[in-house]
Amino acid sequence: MQDIKLKEDLKNHCTFQVGGEADFFYELSDLKDLPLLLKFAKMKKIPYFILGKGSNILFDDKGFRGLVIKNISENITIKTTTVEVDSGVSVSKLVMETVKKGLSPLEKWMGLPGTVGGAIYGNAGCNGLETKDILKSVTLLNPKTGKIKKVSAKYLALKYRSSKLKKSNEIVLKAVFQLKKSKLSSTEQKKIMAELSQNRLQKQPLGLSSGSFFKNPSLKNPAGMLIDKAGLKGKKVGKAQISEKHGNFLLNLGGATSTDILKLAKLAKQQVKAKFGLALISEVQILDPKGKRKLV
Ligand SMILES: Cc1cc2nc3c(=O)[nH]c(=O)nc-3n(C[C@H](O)[C@H](O)[C@H](O)COP(=O)(O)OP(=O)(O)OC[C@H]3O[C@@H](n4cnc5c(N)ncnc54)[C@H](O)[C@@H]3O)c2cc1C
Repeated sequence: MQDIKLKEDLKNHCTFQVGGEADFFYELSDLKDLPLLLKFAKMKKIPYFILGKGSNILFDDKGFRGLVIKNISENITIKTTTVEVDSGVSVSKLVMETVKKGLSPLEKWMGLPGTVGGAIYGNAGCNGLETKDILKSVTLLNPKTGKIKKVSAKYLALKYRSSKLKKSNEIVLKAVFQLKKSKLSSTEQKKIMAELSQNRLQKQPLGLSSGSFFKNPSLKNPAGMLIDKAGLKGKKVGKAQISEKHGNFLLNLGGATSTDILKLAKLAKQQVKAKFGLALISEVQILDPKGKRKLV
């Protein structure tokens, strides 16, 4: 095992690039070390937080008074149409490796940031493909009992940006995805991936964000459209801004604080409620220094 780092800047570990320091920080490459890390947190009576790529989390300006465990495990095994992966595998690696083997439909996730663990936690997806559509089973660690179990994907009750893990706090160690042989040639698959990348570039801003900040209240009422109709595109608080290109993207223009982003999110929420009577709820979680995960 490597050493646990002290006072790690969380800005460097999330796509918003905001947040203070974590008292303790560990980069977990071997999942077998996880129980020891949880024991360390328990012994010290501090909270822990499992971090993937940090693309759906807002850290507090005051940081985190506990142990952040950044999951960088990366094993991936492909057997015919079944893929077994460590939860720390990046979605982009999963896409590339499976497409290389002539499998489908993960080409649809071209450009989706994050790790497999993060994707399962929030049932991530795009272009008509959600995690629940292809996930077969997961191996979970119960942090309270230390027990490890393999369960079918059904156990997770995956729904729009939601899973049972948000309540149970179980940790995903491994996942098995069921794919199929692609009917498309490798060139055709690559063409689709290039188009999807282009599509993202056209619709979404470049810059520091966590993707869509709010869940869509309904298919008819996407959060971005509501924020746009409330006249908030381009609105700034400190160094944070609601993107001019996509109303549901909150951006760190460089030097923003977590507080700036939260103020902007609350403003969007208030205005949308006042104008349309609809409640926006964040997809992004806010982690407070004591380890509580909140939504705006
Ligand atoms: C530019 C941009 C575009 C995006 N586009 C999309 C999109 O099209 N579709 C979409 O769904 N999302 C999108 N997102 C949001 C984000 O990429 C996803 O939510 C992603 O799945 C988060 O993965 P992560 O590894 O970064 O998770 P993190 O942000 O690191 O963590 C998110 C949550 O998952 C938990 N978690 C992480 N790993 C585990 C584990 N192994 N076991 C248990 N819990 C775990 C964490 O504790 C945390 O609560 C986008 C984000 C960005 C920045």
